Order: sequence, then structure tokens, then C-alpha cells
Amino acid sequence: MNPNPPLDPSPTPQVALREVFYGNDVFVQARDPRQFEAYEKSQHPSVTMLTCCDARLHQLVFNFDPIDRTFVVQNIGNQLQPASGSIDYGIHHLKTPLLLILGHTRCGAIRAAMSDYRSESWEIIRELNGLHLPLLRCEKQEDIEKAWLDAVEHNVDYQVDLAMRRYGAVVNAGKLAIVGGVYDFANLYGRGRGRIVLLNLNGVAGQEAIRALPVWQEFDEALSDLVLHERKSL
Ligand SMILES: [Zn+2]
Repeated sequence: MNPNPPLDPSPTPQVALREVFYGNDVFVQARDPRQFEAYEKSQHPSVTMLTCCDARLHQLVFNFDPIDRTFVVQNIGNQLQPASGSIDYGIHHLKTPLLLILGHTRCGAIRAAMSDYRSESWEIIRELNGLHLPLLRCEKQEDIEKAWLDAVEHNVDYQVDLAMRRYGAVVNAGKLAIVGGVYDFANLYGRGRGRIVLLNLNGVAGQEAIRALPVWQEFDEALSDLVLHERKSL
């Protein structure tokens, strides 16, 4: 038995099943069982992360072990309303100091919401309908790639806006920061593939305005230049 077979790009159910359980077996054998004791009785996340289900976007991009650190809520188009109970749990019960709302480049849900999706199942239609309000703010553009990215950004802003309405008191008490960003695996922002570009912090957009926020103080200057995206005010 090969404990770590190469991943198949188009696996059958049989192959996918093996990948999961063989992979998990490798994980179990590689871990010191004592590592699990720290969170055996409770979880200790520092981030509540609302993101899209897209397989190209993953909490591994933070480069720390996400186990016991990220409380992840996912749906197509990283939408707050279909998942508000789960997010309430992260903010009010687990008290994570960060709510990261993370869209991504080339988001299929956003693209579908920009198109005619009447032939989808009612369940998919219902979830895509939630993206209509943010897309209303997009200007018409000839360049579909630009229009698509613009729609991704407007959706992130809209979701941050909803989150500020819901958790603004926690933000104002200095116990929470709400970050809206785009994970860019396609390098559409030119900051390097895999970069998270920050659009919106606590409902504030624009580099200078974000740099002036108390929560951004002591942030590395060079990294600020890389991650902050200059935009018009919201
Ligand atoms: Zn997506």
C-alpha cells in the first residue's frame, strides 16, 4: 500500500476516497498525539473567516497551521447572510478578534451572478440571488476580466458593510477588526500569486485612511505597500 499516492487531477470516487483516507493516515502518523491535547476540550481560533467554497482558496495561505486557529465559514460568493448564525458563533461565543471576509479572483459564483442563471437548481439560484445587491453597484465595462474583478470587490465591500452593521459595537469596543480582502491566485493585482489584497478595514477604504486607523499602527510599511489596494472611498 502506497501511503501517499500522487493526487489525481480528475479522480474517480474510488480514487478520491483513497486520497482522503490515505492522506489522513499520513497526517495521523506524522503528528505527535500530544499536539491534540492543547485543544482537546475547547477551540481557540484567532480568526473567523468567511470565504468562498472555491477549492483554490484555502486557509493554508496564512502559512500557519490553521488547526485551532481559524474558524471557517464557507459558501459560494462568501456571503454573510446565509451563514450569519455561524459567524455570530465565531464573534460572540469564540470572540475571535478578527473577522476576515475573503473573496477571490476568478470567483465562479460572482461570474454566475453576473450571468443568466435561471437554469440552475432553486437552491443555487437562491444563493446567487444574494449577490444581486452588491453587483448593482458595478459599472458596465467592456473588459470582462475587469468587470469580474470589480464585482468581486463590490461583493467584499457589501459583505463588510453587512458585518459592520451586525458587529459594529464589537468593533467600536476595540475587540474586533473586520477585514475585507481578495485572495489573488491569478496575480490580477500584480502583487504576486497567492497574495491577499486588503480592500476594506472596518468599513474604511483607501490606503491613507486605512494607514490612519489605530488597528493598522505598527504594521510593516513595506508590507502595507504590498497589501493595501488604492481605491476611491466607498
Ligand atoms: Zn468563489
